[in-house]
Amino acid sequence: MIKLYNTLTRKKQIFKPVKKTRNEVGFYSCGPTVYWYAHIGNLRTYIFNDLLKRVLEYNRYKVKHVMNLTDVGHLTSDADEGEDKMEKAAQKEKKTAWQIAEFYAQAFKKDIKALNIKEPGQWVKATDHIKEQIALIRILEKKGYTYRIKDGIYFDTSKIKDYGKLAGLKKRKLKAGARVKITEGKKNITDFALWKFSPKEFKRQMEWDSPWGIGFPGWHTECIAMAEKYLGIPFDIHTGAIDLIPIHHTNEIAQAQAAFGKKMANFWLHGEHLILEHGKMAKSEGNIILIDDLIKKQINPLSYRYLCLQAHYRSKLTFSWESLKSAQNALNNLYEKIAEIKSKNKMPKSDRSERFWHRDKFLSYINDDLNTPKALAFIWKLIKEDKISYELLLEFDRVLGLDLDKIKEIKIPAGIKELAEKREKYRKEKNWEKADQIRKEIEKLGFKVEDTSQGADIKKGC
Ligand code: AMP
Ligand code: ZN
Repeated sequence: MIKLYNTLTRKKQIFKPVKKTRNEVGFYSCGPTVYWYAHIGNLRTYIFNDLLKRVLEYNRYKVKHVMNLTDVGHLTSDADEGEDKMEKAAQKEKKTAWQIAEFYAQAFKKDIKALNIKEPGQWVKATDHIKEQIALIRILEKKGYTYRIKDGIYFDTSKIKDYGKLAGLKKRKLKAGARVKITEGKKNITDFALWKFSPKEFKRQMEWDSPWGIGFPGWHTECIAMAEKYLGIPFDIHTGAIDLIPIHHTNEIAQAQAAFGKKMANFWLHGEHLILEHGKMAKSEGNIILIDDLIKKQINPLSYRYLCLQAHYRSKLTFSWESLKSAQNALNNLYEKIAEIKSKNKMPKSDRSERFWHRDKFLSYINDDLNTPKALAFIWKLIKEDKISYELLLEFDRVLGLDLDKIKEIKIPAGIKELAEKREKYRKEKNWEKADQIRKEIEKLGFKVEDTSQGADIKKGC
């Protein structure tokens, strides 16, 4: 039984798939806008997506995962104004918008690989689905949800009864508190562009013909058009970070309701942001950190994954280099412990029924709205009590994704073993001086001996 916090109902709910008989889960995550590198804040959201997918798979669901790449239509302002991020980047880098999209999509794929984030079963690009987006806008038009103004075709949000339910938005409040500049001709502040006309002053690189004129789709239409095509609606789970709740996801829900008379997804899950001590990580603030920055500092990107697992996905996570270093140390300690467990190749101090209980306990944490901090603490407890087997650790790593299977057992060279035996002999003879001499010799060779109740234990490192 998996419980997930659904933003739509503001409750933790038991997860039940739409297709009850097939054990299949339709999962759509809003992907990156590929105009620049994803920063580690963006990547926190994809680690959360990955975790959710791995938890579903651990619970034996077949996950049909679709992720989009936004390669057109995401403007620099929330008020459907400003430049297209893709075209702006193209000008800056003196490349075509298509080259920009391809380059940063590949960079994103490289980053998620470094973080052990499983690729979605299907990548879908907005520019490959212009036909589908036009078809969707036509349905909306026929049903009377659209109107035309100078710069494009807009969605009339006043026609949706509970518009803004996902975000708990109150329309009156929104109007009063709105600080965004309203586009000329827009009927309601929440109305959004479905199709934007190309400007007259210059030629855009990405533009298409449509029943309304040459232009390009608005950002909020691609996901609903592609999710409907590849998953059908309603599908099971839709994800993103919290900033997508009030506008992007709210507008996706409105279009699904208007075009198909259905809800888009049953569960809406949103990850909290990664923040810095002095505020949000944003390109405009110039405080962006990339995976490459970690690699340059010789930090294993999986340390960042570990850092994210230490916090619940619905809590803000404050990033600092110190916290990342601590995560790196903790991960290295974990690797060391695993190498030891592997090289000892001995059964843990737990019987079969206890091991069943351990598996259940782990499951109870991850199935409780992905409580990885508790799951990690539980694993550490088992390790410290010498109660976990190598096999069970690998099984848990199917969820954690920390590459625990790649840890090599510690190979103790025969010469070191001989020295340790000799030292043991001297110890038994109470010849402490000689025993200590050999201990120092062993340490010089990069190993250490620890005396336990079961005899001497040899480890790597001094
Ligand atoms: P974008 O590439 O700008 O479309 O953003 C990609 C994803 O990253 C979206 O789901 C955003 O909501 C999410 N995101 C943006 N900033 C942060 C942050 N500081 N922490 C976590 N997720 C973020
Ligand atoms: Zn989306």
